[in-house]
Amino acid sequence: MTELKTQILHDDQIGLEQAARILSNGGLVSFPTETVYGLGADAHNGRAVASVYAAKGRPSFNPLIVHVANLETAKRFAQFDKTALDLADAFWPGPVSLVLPLVKNHGLSELVTAGLDTVAIRMPDHKTAQALLKTFDGPLAAPSANPSGRISPTSCEHVISDMNGMIDAVVDGGNCYVGVESTILKIDVDRVSLLRAGGLPIEAVEACLGYSIAKPQDPQTPQSPGQLQSHYAPNAAVRLNATKAEADEVLLAFGPNSQGAALNLSATGDMVEAAANLFAYMRDIDEIASTSKSIAISPIPMTGLGLAINDRLKRAAAPRD
Ligand code: AMP
Ligand code: MG
Repeated sequence: MTELKTQILHDDQIGLEQAARILSNGGLVSFPTETVYGLGADAHNGRAVASVYAAKGRPSFNPLIVHVANLETAKRFAQFDKTALDLADAFWPGPVSLVLPLVKNHGLSELVTAGLDTVAIRMPDHKTAQALLKTFDGPLAAPSANPSGRISPTSCEHVISDMNGMIDAVVDGGNCYVGVESTILKIDVDRVSLLRAGGLPIEAVEACLGYSIAKPQDPQTPQSPGQLQSHYAPNAAVRLNATKAEADEVLLAFGPNSQGAALNLSATGDMVEAAANLFAYMRDIDEIASTSKSIAISPIPMTGLGLAINDRLKRAAAPRD
């Protein structure tokens, strides 16, 4: 058993106050959101934000998402036009981040925005995230709490197993119930584009707006900085759209036809369940594959959360360099 160097805090008043103190002093605290566990730092504090990149070993300064407790706080940093207000009203708190123009004198660290004139902002729904943001009483920059390029954590155990000794504390608030990162929408003078598929299905966004929006494959859509091909990579090689496992493979299945599967993302073919299981099962299957086998993954339909799941899987299977 390796020595525990990162404090595990309860999500009660004592734990949350301790977490807020650490954050105010420039420390790093991981906390659960409904999407994945975030690696939080005071978004005003450049050193704290820099240490986020250091702890993650990120290869570049991709901009981070700023987490806030309420719309009032969000407006201190970002300009909300009518479309942005409509989306915030419909989906916050929830798994969608809005990329909006910065306001003057926002006071955020430049590292948070990677020097851009926009900021990605989100109000999470998870009760532990809400409680911490209220106790801290400020914005938290928080990418996922995993080393760069690795699978995002959806439980306190995942965070400890990946980041022990690299961060000050983690608030244990149980498992993440959405399990994939937030959907990212860029809003530019009432024009909306999808930068990253995620926990909020794009169909819901389009239903709210009443029109369809630009997707990442459209040439006019801006690229989200840091959408690395070989992201979320397990140690074992990954083969997608596999209908069955070969002798040297372990199968991560989806749906009822799953003979010989080591694990099944959802035996009933439920996309929400599959998304919630995705990162934990990617880790588990990687352990089962160990050093001698590779991973085969069943096809997942490209509807609803399937877009986000397939996006993650494609990165997991991308050639490594
Ligand atoms: P992560 O925090 O690891 O979930 O990643 C945050 C994502 O948000 C990255 O893909 C960033 O490139 C994207 N992002 C954050 N801020 C901006 C911004 N101002 N403009 C465009 N994309 C952004
Ligand atoms: Mg991440």
